[in-house]
Amino acid sequence: MFLHDKFGRAITDLRISITDRCNYKCVYCRTGNEGALYGDLPFADYLRMARVLVGMGVTKVRLTGGEPLLRNGVVDFVRELAKLHPQGLKPSSFLGPDGAAVSRALSKRSAGPSFDSAPLDIALTSNGHLLSDLAQPLKDAGLTRVTVSMDAVDPDRFARITRVSNGYDHVLAGIRAARRAGLWPLKVNCVLMRGFNEDQIIPFGMFAREEGVTVRFIEFMPLEEGRTWSPDTVVTLDEILARMAEYRPLVEIPHARSETARRYRFDDGVGEIGIIAPVSHPFCGHCSRIRITSDGKIRTCLFSVWDHDLHAQMRRGASDEEMADFIRSVVAKKEERHHIGEPDFVPASRTMVHIGG
Ligand code: SAM
Repeated sequence: MFLHDKFGRAITDLRISITDRCNYKCVYCRTGNEGALYGDLPFADYLRMARVLVGMGVTKVRLTGGEPLLRNGVVDFVRELAKLHPQGLKPSSFLGPDGAAVSRALSKRSAGPSFDSAPLDIALTSNGHLLSDLAQPLKDAGLTRVTVSMDAVDPDRFARITRVSNGYDHVLAGIRAARRAGLWPLKVNCVLMRGFNEDQIIPFGMFAREEGVTVRFIEFMPLEEGRTWSPDTVVTLDEILARMAEYRPLVEIPHARSETARRYRFDDGVGEIGIIAPVSHPFCGHCSRIRITSDGKIRTCLFSVWDHDLHAQMRRGASDEEMADFIRSVVAKKEERHHIGEPDFVPASRTMVHIGG
């Protein structure tokens, strides 16, 4: 009944990029150019896409970008998303192309689980710059949790990486506001890039313990606008573990196979570290993700060399059932795995900021 790809992976995790604009120009992501390449859609269009996908088995929606908090109306969008229910749909959940409720698709689902059985897990990935004022309104609207990207715990280094001079204090304030608002678990993601911030590993270990957040290191992937990636620029999981062990011993926490991060606690139980290692330890076999870009294209893999125009289906007047059929046909083409570092690697057709990480 629910969405599976041809390798048997259940698709339960939707990422929606609500803009490809960003107020930061991180060296491992952007070239420093201004503006967006692809533009964005009205929230009502993303909401309809999400509604259809939630009806097909998606249980988790993450808003991303670009920088999602640049979009006015994001709080109201979260409030609307929070009305969706993963394991069953209210009668009004299927809308026709004109927005009118229709019931035909529901008859197929009437044998399914009951309505309102679980809330949708709504998460946000943000650079945190605008988070301090928005954390509480987002929480009140139904946001479950937030991941803040932060690549140095030193203001000067932070400015060098983001190419924004006054960002560090804003982001720290955003992280603290998110914690106060109860957006939990609170994760801080750090992309490590050799030559820029590999010396931040131990300071981030201290930061995790002091701020009570989970710090997750991410291996740098070849998804940057500047095409500067090479295997040498990647700070690997093994290297991160070895460096952190110089500070304090880590103990691995058992994790679900579907989790992308390997998780560790310090030996005294204070502070959690995660490592997301798509390059040195790929986890494609457990991938449960589908992405919608800010201009309404489906991407089945970060490294896809094509995308699939879901918004075009809406523009031509597709019903929800027709959209679901389109989505099923696209998911059937989901790539088995990425080919980073292999001779046959072909760069993705979009870079991270225009996909939504
Ligand atoms: N602006 C938001 C933010 O900063 O979190 C959301 C979009 S950003 C593209 C999403 C995540 O992708 C961030 O954690 C960022 O660090 C990560 N990212 C961007 N480029 C990357 C790359 N080449 N390799 C690994 N992670 C990358």
